[in-house]
Amino acid sequence: MQLRIFFKSFPETTRCPSCGKIGVIRRSRTKNFLEAAVKSSRIANVYKCRECGWRGILRKYTVNKYSFITLFFYIILIFTVAYIITKVLENKFGS
Ligand SMILES: [Zn+2]
Repeated sequence: MQLRIFFKSFPETTRCPSCGKIGVIRRSRTKNFLEAAVKSSRIANVYKCRECGWRGILRKYTVNKYSFITLFFYIILIFTVAYIITKVLENKFGS
């Protein structure tokens, strides 16, 4: 079982959002502060399409159905732990 919420995606191998071609997306140089900030965040990067000239920001991480299962698992875990802590505190200071 993989307890991960974010999965690495590879924009280089995905379709161009503009022309829909596969394998034409390449990393692009950052041109302004915003793009530099995006790049330094490590969760996204600036890409450019060799075919149609599309340029934009694509995420390097993606979520899938396992993300929701993991998230659900963590929520259950947090509530369980919170419940146990509450019960322990009640026993200690309750009576
Ligand atoms: Zn394109």
